[in-house]
Amino acid sequence: MTSEWTFPASFAQERVWTANQLDPGSPVYNVSAPWRFPAGVTAAQAVEVLAQVVARHESLRTHLRMVDGALVQVVRAAEPLELPELDLTGLPAEEQERRYAETLTELARTPIPLDAPPLWRARLVRFGDGRLRLQFVVHHAVFDSHSAVLFDAEMAAFARAALTGAPADVPELPIQYADFAVWQRDQLTGDELARQLAFWRDHLAGAPAVTGLPLDRPRPTQLGFAGDEVRFALPDGLLDRVGQLAAGTSATPYMVLLATFAALLSRLSGDPEVVVGVSTAGRDTAELTPLIGMFVNPVALRCDLTGDPSGAELLGRVRTGLLDAMEHGQTPFQRIVEAVAPHRDPSVQPVFQTALNFIPDSGLDPVPLGTTKDDLAFDITGGTSRLVYRTDLFDRATAEQIVARYLRLLAAAVADPATRLSALPLLDDAERAVLLTWTGTGGEVAPTTLVAEMERQAAVTPAAVALVSDGVELSYAELAVRANRLARLLVDRGAGPETRVALLLPRSVDLVVAILAVLKTGAAYLPVDTDYPANRIDYLLTDAEPALVLATPQTAALAPTGALVLGPTTAADLRDADLTDDDRRAPLRPEHPAYVLYTSGSTGRPKGVLVEHRAVTAYLAWARDTYPGLAGTALLHSPVSFDLTVTGLFGPLTAGGTVRLAGIDTPAARAGGPPTFLKVTPSHLPLLDDALSPTTDLVIGGEALTGEQLAGWRAAHPEVAVINEYGPTEATVGCVAARIAPGQPVPAGPVPIGQPTWTTRVHLLDAALTPVPPGVVGELYVAGSQLARGYLRRPALTAERFLPCPYGPAGERMYRTGDLARWRADGTLEYLGRRDNQVKVRGMRIELGEIESVLRARPDVDEAAVVVRTDTGEPTLVGYLVGPADDAGLVGRGGDGGWVREVGGGVGEVCGVSSVVVGGGRGI
Ligand code: AMP
Ligand code: MG
Repeated sequence: MTSEWTFPASFAQERVWTANQLDPGSPVYNVSAPWRFPAGVTAAQAVEVLAQVVARHESLRTHLRMVDGALVQVVRAAEPLELPELDLTGLPAEEQERRYAETLTELARTPIPLDAPPLWRARLVRFGDGRLRLQFVVHHAVFDSHSAVLFDAEMAAFARAALTGAPADVPELPIQYADFAVWQRDQLTGDELARQLAFWRDHLAGAPAVTGLPLDRPRPTQLGFAGDEVRFALPDGLLDRVGQLAAGTSATPYMVLLATFAALLSRLSGDPEVVVGVSTAGRDTAELTPLIGMFVNPVALRCDLTGDPSGAELLGRVRTGLLDAMEHGQTPFQRIVEAVAPHRDPSVQPVFQTALNFIPDSGLDPVPLGTTKDDLAFDITGGTSRLVYRTDLFDRATAEQIVARYLRLLAAAVADPATRLSALPLLDDAERAVLLTWTGTGGEVAPTTLVAEMERQAAVTPAAVALVSDGVELSYAELAVRANRLARLLVDRGAGPETRVALLLPRSVDLVVAILAVLKTGAAYLPVDTDYPANRIDYLLTDAEPALVLATPQTAALAPTGALVLGPTTAADLRDADLTDDDRRAPLRPEHPAYVLYTSGSTGRPKGVLVEHRAVTAYLAWARDTYPGLAGTALLHSPVSFDLTVTGLFGPLTAGGTVRLAGIDTPAARAGGPPTFLKVTPSHLPLLDDALSPTTDLVIGGEALTGEQLAGWRAAHPEVAVINEYGPTEATVGCVAARIAPGQPVPAGPVPIGQPTWTTRVHLLDAALTPVPPGVVGELYVAGSQLARGYLRRPALTAERFLPCPYGPAGERMYRTGDLARWRADGTLEYLGRRDNQVKVRGMRIELGEIESVLRARPDVDEAAVVVRTDTGEPTLVGYLVGPADDAGLVGRGGDGGWVREVGGGVGEVCGVSSVVVGGGRGI
C-alpha cells in the first residue's frame, strides 16, 4: 500500500481543475518537455535519472482529488519507476524522427486525468545511433514554464552524475510545493484577499469585456477550444534591439513585446482599450525558485491606447500597468473572474481572450496540442516562437498574417519609439498595392452636364417614349419641347447657373417637365415633398434661398408669395424654342449644381446637399453600363426628394429608355407589363409581385441588405441581375455596388456592398485616417468625381465632412460617410453599420440627434433620447423624454426621474415638431 498525504490544493491548481471541468478530456493543459539523454546513458540509467527528479519533487508525485467539496492535492511516496519503451532502431534515420514526432504528438494530445496519479506520461525512445530520448508530457497543474527550465537542468545533472559516478549537482530543496500551497492559503484570505480583489475590481471597471478582433467566422455561442499554432522566429537581432530599447527606458523586454501586442490588438479591433492576459511567475521568494510545480498566475493587463500615443509613451503606460498588475499578481485569477465578470458569457473567456508570454531562455519546443484556451496567444522566445489561435475563429492564413503584422509593428516601434501608433505600418508594400486596386482607380468620365446628355439622347431617339404617367405618353421630342418652353419662362424669372428653383409639385408629368426645365436654365432643382408638414417646407424654402418657387394651384397654399404657379395663366407666356447657352444667364458647365437634396442634420437643422452635373453624369455613365435595364422601362415610384430617384429618372432619359411614373402601390405601376428596371429599398422587397418585378435589373439600396431578405424574391427570379447599391447623397446616389449576376446564388448573411463605381475611390480608414488592412473595421471615406460640392451655405459643416484626401492627387477631397465597413479577402466591401446615431427607417435617413435637439428645445423637456425600436417588427422611432411636469401631456414623470417612455410611431407630429418627419413618412 502506497503512503499518501493530503494537502490543500493551490489556487492555481484549483483554477486548472475548474477549467478542466468545463472541458473535460481536453489536453489543453498538457505541457510537453521532451528530453535527449547524452550519449552513453543506458536505458536503466535513463529511467533512474527521471526517477531521481521525480523523487526530489513532490509535485511530480501529486494528483488532485475532491474531498468533501474541497480540492486537495494528494502526494504519494516515491516508488521505483518503470517506463514504457519505443524502439526505433530498425527504421531509417528520417523515419525514426518522423515516428518520434508522431508518437510524441499523440502522447501530448492524450488527456491526463487530474484525479489519478501521476500527472505525467513518459516514454523512453531508442534511436538507431544508440542514443535515448525521453518523451515527457506533464499536466500544467503540477508544472509551469519555469518548471520546464528546472526539469531540463536536473535531468542534465543526474544524467552527468550517472555517467561520471560523481554526486549530482542539484540544489537542496528547502520546501516542497504543498508547503507553498498551505502558505498561500494562509496568506490570501480575509482582508488581504479583499484588498487585492478591490484593486482588480477597480482596475478592470469599464474595461472592454471582449477584444473585438476581426474574425474569419462569427463567434460560436459556446466557447470552443480547438486550436492550432503558427511557428516563427523573431528576425535576427530584433530581440537584441527590443532589449536595448527596454534598457534605455527602464522597461523590460517583456513590456516592449506587450506594448506592441496591445498596439496590434487595438489597430486590428479599433478598440482604444484592450485587456491582455499576462502571466506572473508566482515565485516571489528564493525558496520557490528551485521547485517544480504550478506557480504562474494569469492576471489582466489593461492597456489604454487613447490619444494615439507614441511607442515610447505607450511603453510607459504598459510599464506602469504591468507593475501594478504584478504587484497584485498573487490574486488567484479565478477570484478576479468572480469579482469582475460574475455573469459569464458562455461564448468567450472571461476578462481577456488574448495573451502574450515571453520565455526568453526556454529550450522547450512544445508539441502543438490542437487546442487552446485563448482566442490568440503569443509565446515569444529567443528560439521558436508561436502564435496559438482558435481554429473556430481564425483561418491559418489570418493567423500567419497576424504574426507578420506583429513583427512589422515590433520592428518599426523599436526602430523609432517616437512614431505614433497610427503611423506604425500594419501593411507591407504588396498588401498596400493590392489595397490600392481595391479602393478603385476608376477611369475618369469626361465631365459633362445632364442637359447635354439628355439632349444627346433626344436627338438620337426623338420618337421613342420618354415618359408615361397618368395615362399620358410623351416622346423624347415632346418632352424636350415642354421643358424648353418652361425653361425660357424660368430664365426670365431669374433662374440660372448657381441659383436654385424649388419644386412644390406632386408626382406628375409636370414635375418631370419642371425638373428638366430647371436643369436647362442651368439652375439646380430643389424638390420639396408636398406631403411634408408646413413648417418643414418653410424651413427648406428659407434655408435654400431659392431664386424661384414653382407650385401648382393645388400646392400654391404651401408656397410663399411670389411663387410661380403653373397653370393656365403661365401657359400664355410659353414659347416653343430650344434653349441654348445664349439664352441662359450664363453658360452651363459641368461644375454647376444640378440639384439640392435635404438630409437630416444631427444638430436639429436638415442640410442641403449640393450635387453638381459632373457628379451625376459620372454616376449615370457607370449606371447605364451596369444596368442595361435602364434602356427599357424603369418604374419610377420614389419621391424625387430622395436621390435614388436619380437612377430611374435620368438613367432611362440618357439611355433611350422609358420612365413610367407611378406609386408602387397603384394600379398604374402594374399596367403595361413588368418593367425592365426597378430600384427599391430592402423594405420594398415583400411588395414585389410578378407585375412589379423587373426583368433585367433589380437595384436595392439605401439600407443594409441580407441574403435572407432577398432569398424569396431571388428564388422566383433567378434570371434577373440583383445589385446592392450603396451610397450617401453626398457621393451621388450610388458609389459602391455589388452585382449578383443572373443565375448567381444569393449569399447567406450580409450581402456585400461590393466595389466602387468607375470614378469613385473609397478608403477604409481608422481614426488616424490610416488605411485598415483587409478584415479590419474602418470608416468608409469616398473620393472621386461623384462627390457633392458640399452643404448649401454651410461651409463649416462642409469642411467637417469633406476632408482633404491624403491618398489622392493634390487638392482631392474625400467625404467622411460615418459608415463602418471592412474589406473582404476578395476585395469587396462589407457594410457593418454606423459609427454615429444616424439611422435608416424604411430607407429614410434620420439623425436621431436632429429629433432629440428639437425635443430638447421645448420648454417642458429637459432631456430627450430617441431610439429605433425593431423588436416590434416594423422599425419605429421612440422618444424618451424627461421634463419637469406632464402638463403638456408630453412628459410623464418617472418615479425615479429616469427616462420616461413617451411616444412611438410619430415623435415629430406628437411633439408638434414638423421639421422632422417620422412615422407615416413615405420613406425610401
Ligand atoms: P442617403 O444619403 O439617404 O442615401 O443615405 C446614405 C446612408 O444610407 C449611407 O451612409 C448608409 O448608412 C446607408 N446605405 C445606403 N445604401 C446602403 C446599402 N446598400 N447598404 C447599407 N447601407 C446603405
Ligand atoms: Mg443613397
